[in-house]
Amino acid sequence: MSDQLFLADKKAATRIIHAGSHPDPSTGAIMTPIYQTSTYVQSAPGVNQGYEYARSQNPTRFALEEALAVIENGKYGLAFSSGVAATDAVIKLLAPGDEVIAANDMYGGTYRLFTKVFEKFGIRFIYVDTTHTANIEAVVTPKTKLIWIETPTNPLMNITDIHAVSKIARKAGALLCVDNTFASPYLQNPLNLGADIVMHSATKYLGGHSDVIQGALVMNDQGLRDQLYFIQKSCGAVPGPLDCFLVLRGIKTLHVRMKQHCENGFVVAHFLRKHPNVERVYWCGFNDHPNYEIAKNQMKAFGGMMSFTLKDDSMETAKRVLSSTRIFSLAESLGGVESLINHPSSMTHASIPREERIKNGLSDGLIRLSVGIEDADDLVEDLKQAIG
Ligand SMILES: *Cc1c(COP(=O)(O)O)cnc(C)c1O
Repeated sequence: MSDQLFLADKKAATRIIHAGSHPDPSTGAIMTPIYQTSTYVQSAPGVNQGYEYARSQNPTRFALEEALAVIENGKYGLAFSSGVAATDAVIKLLAPGDEVIAANDMYGGTYRLFTKVFEKFGIRFIYVDTTHTANIEAVVTPKTKLIWIETPTNPLMNITDIHAVSKIARKAGALLCVDNTFASPYLQNPLNLGADIVMHSATKYLGGHSDVIQGALVMNDQGLRDQLYFIQKSCGAVPGPLDCFLVLRGIKTLHVRMKQHCENGFVVAHFLRKHPNVERVYWCGFNDHPNYEIAKNQMKAFGGMMSFTLKDDSMETAKRVLSSTRIFSLAESLGGVESLINHPSSMTHASIPREERIKNGLSDGLIRLSVGIEDADDLVEDLKQAIG
């Protein structure tokens, strides 16, 4: 913790590289070893070194959790076996009868967890367009216990004003949780803007190499941390030590990767926008994006995630483009070093009913890109030949 305080006033690159790093006490190893163990030997019953059983305590996981806290500028980090497991833990803070106000344009798996798993336990979810914060205020009731937002959103790159929503949450006595997966802690720190909990799919930019599934929560309030730690160990969705090691290693290059994702994102977004066959590009770095000013205020830069539609917005044409890229791989997920292309309506967002998707502006022809850190020229060439 003292190192965490020491790092708090350092600049991003220094903080990111040194977050959670302590030489291993037994050997001095600079990287925290992969403590691949289920239990710890006690010298007498109840006498241990703070480690009893690895669902509750693991040194590799603790190193990662400290790193997560440092890079999000929070006090406490908790790692989970996946992003949805982290979301699941947050909803388990609630009780039957509680209400959650959530964004109507968010990760499909979050929507599925809310509607298909938690509604039947008596938790009520109200979906609104959170880009207009008045829509949130309009549905706040005394039962509102949590506001859940994602910004930028997946896949339409809508921006919600985190600070404005945090004021609504505070007034309502509700928690605000922000899914910060798309921005990454390098570009946006929701706790600084008034959020209570930051959630990440560490599978994406934090891991950064498409080789691990993991989730994270970061918060400042110790009571909240204790409740979430209790849920983490009681429900058991903890990541294994190898996965923790991989994310810890991924984090060390987060700032370098993000800079390149942003640079390449800029080039690809502008290329697409000028292309005669492209109808619309969704990217929050355009100065005519409806919430550009908010994006500019709360984000350091605009990232490499974007979506676009073609003039011919048919499923067939979209599928032809999706099948003809050579560098962009057709796959779900995002945030890795390699570029990916995705068809939300048949892939990541297929669990959202079609009429719901269309209503929220997610057309059948929408194509999503996770722009990687290859050479930008090669990425542009690839899209040029695929779009035709
Ligand atoms: C991938 C993703 C999730 C879910 O995370 P998993 O690690 O796949 O469980 C949640 N939110 C967003 C924005 C995501 O992209």
